[in-house]
Amino acid sequence: MTGAIPEPTTGPVPAVPMVWPDGHRAAASFSFDVDAESAILHASPGSASRPGVMSHQSYGPLVGVPRILDILDRHGVEATFFVPGYTAERYPGVVRDIVAAGHEIAHHGYLHETLEGVSPQTEASYLDRGLEVLERVAGVRPVGYRAPMWEPTWATPRLLAERGFLHDSSLMDADVPYELAVSGVPEVASIVEIPIHWALDDWEQYFFLPGISGDPLIESPTKVHELWSLELEAMRDVGGCFALTNHPFLSGRPSRAVVLERIITQALAYGDVWVAPLGQIAGHVRSLDLTPRSMTRPVVDPSGTAG
Ligand code: ZN
Repeated sequence: MTGAIPEPTTGPVPAVPMVWPDGHRAAASFSFDVDAESAILHASPGSASRPGVMSHQSYGPLVGVPRILDILDRHGVEATFFVPGYTAERYPGVVRDIVAAGHEIAHHGYLHETLEGVSPQTEASYLDRGLEVLERVAGVRPVGYRAPMWEPTWATPRLLAERGFLHDSSLMDADVPYELAVSGVPEVASIVEIPIHWALDDWEQYFFLPGISGDPLIESPTKVHELWSLELEAMRDVGGCFALTNHPFLSGRPSRAVVLERIITQALAYGDVWVAPLGQIAGHVRSLDLTPRSMTRPVVDPSGTAG
């Protein structure tokens, strides 16, 4: 989208209510971060010498993804799969199966690199390496991005815009998608941001690896179902976008997959919730020609005044 970005006069402003297509009152999107070994290898490179840990992660592409693809197929739901480049190189057949099933492939770093404190040049190198692998292995040029660990930098929107991305799904300051202003890129004023939240991520519910994850944490799928079901119901009430993030190595396990399927069934049963991959939701947002929101870095000066 192009056009001048108005100067903020009242400080940060919230995203505007969303008008959903075809009379829908809300949206729901199911996304799967196919981290496999990548996130662990980046955070804890020595884990490559631990077959038990590696097998915990490889369960995702080997068992979880096929099970999830079956569930999505049964319900006719298109989803978004965020695939680190390393995963695509290690499991090319699995990634091609996702493409063949008609789902959106999106970018999730090369080795799931955390970006906090990383220079824009280094961040750009991760983006370019991930793009190269997804194009080479899966034949896909993704238009969607999710920062590993949902930890983007202030340079991320510009780096995405420079590479032709349409949407990002890493921020948490709204219930609805919005146009996020980008500066410094000619002819590109914004990218579409589709907000997420830790409460709609299975990592915080199920992730446990000795020596890596910290305290043991394996919640009952019944509790997770309650958490997600209530949020879906309430997000429908406020006209928002229920953006669920699952990891196949976690939610691909049998009883958790049952809960995932129940949530998908709930979303479809409403009849007035638009269930779509993030790319389609972003395309709808782009069609509305919304005024981009600016997100500015907070500054605290030595006298303690917030800016
Ligand atoms: Zn991830």
